Amino acid sequence: MNAPVLVINCGSSSIKYALIDSDPQAPRLAGLAERLGGNDALLKGKNSDGESFTQPLPNADHTQALNAILERLEGRLPVAVGHRIVHGGEHFTQAALIDDSVIEAIETTAALAPLHNPANLAGIAATQKVFPTLPQVAVFDTAFHQTLPPQAYRYALPETLYTEHRIRRYGFHGTSHAYVSQRASELSSCGAGGWLTAHLGNGCSTSAVWNNQSQDTSMGLTPLEGLVMGTRSGDVDPGLHAHLHRQLGWSLDQIDTVLNKESGLLGLSGLTNDMREIETQALSGHAGAKLALEVFCYRIAKSLAALSCALPQLDGIIFTGGIGENSPTVRHRVLNLLPHFGFALDGEANEATTRGKEGKLDSANHTGPEVWVIPTDEEGRIAMETRHCVEALT
Ligand code: ADP
Repeated sequence: MNAPVLVINCGSSSIKYALIDSDPQAPRLAGLAERLGGNDALLKGKNSDGESFTQPLPNADHTQALNAILERLEGRLPVAVGHRIVHGGEHFTQAALIDDSVIEAIETTAALAPLHNPANLAGIAATQKVFPTLPQVAVFDTAFHQTLPPQAYRYALPETLYTEHRIRRYGFHGTSHAYVSQRASELSSCGAGGWLTAHLGNGCSTSAVWNNQSQDTSMGLTPLEGLVMGTRSGDVDPGLHAHLHRQLGWSLDQIDTVLNKESGLLGLSGLTNDMREIETQALSGHAGAKLALEVFCYRIAKSLAALSCALPQLDGIIFTGGIGENSPTVRHRVLNLLPHFGFALDGEANEATTRGKEGKLDSANHTGPEVWVIPTDEEGRIAMETRHCVEALT
């Protein structure tokens, strides 16, 4: 199947799209419709000649935005649509061709991702209207982590919370961890061995991957667990909620907002959630920015060290995401905190590997676990899984 796949990532007021050919080198048509429902809604993206465009779409809904996206595909009609779906619960261990039962299962799982799954479902409904004859495939952020063993996915809570309410660790960023670990196993002489992956963007998570299967990951029931992120706290004492409620009278909604939107790099620095700005301010001596950088890197190192328990052997570590791909400072600091792992970072290679470059960062003649930067390609992975799912039907 050589014709392109349209990848859709639908939020409550946005649609990110990419038209992806089966040849990974072929240029992609991609863009973003945002502020949908508002009178300042717009569609922006790039044409195949690389020119940027911005098109106002006042008061457009998801269906109208998709019709505008269709006009921007330059006559290259997709053969299938792949949807990024945030939460597949325990229903989905791989991508699934969308039918009524799949939609019902995504609806059932919405309680676990109340902000994301309903928006993803709205995207599916709108896409079905605009492309009624195309096969549509759901690709889940959680599916890659369905190989976690119970010791990694169960919380130490009363059993009925799991058996009746499905409260367990699920993990997210699955398409990214799957893509970079697969790519490392193709590029490295170690193959599909034991890899630690660090996806560091606005959301951040780590994962331990053995033989192309996720063994453990830092995010849990929700994407709040684990590392320090742009505005999310990551791990806190589970007693914090009760403390804030009893001592400060905060409601659950207030606590949720603080932990998700006002914490992380932003909360620690008192400045920003943007790592570029944190690094600049830390260099010029800003105490909050310095602390934010220290806590951020320490928590990544601590998480990677913990996840190494899930691997029978460690072949290497992979950095990805906006920070992982572009910040030599963060990579250097994290690896410095893990001297007992035997990594040997080449300073020059580390400094030179930014802006979407793929590469191994080891010093010459090094024999310990490898260090890689692999730019993530979640959309490419979604297109590939969509293709496989549709091909399996024919
Ligand atoms: P998202 O999770 O929203 O996809 P990205 O993967 O694009 O986010 O990552 C965004 C983060 O990457 C931001 O904190 C941004 O500051 C950081 N980033 C981007 N470029 C650099 C850079 N050159 N140096 C340090 N951090 C960077």
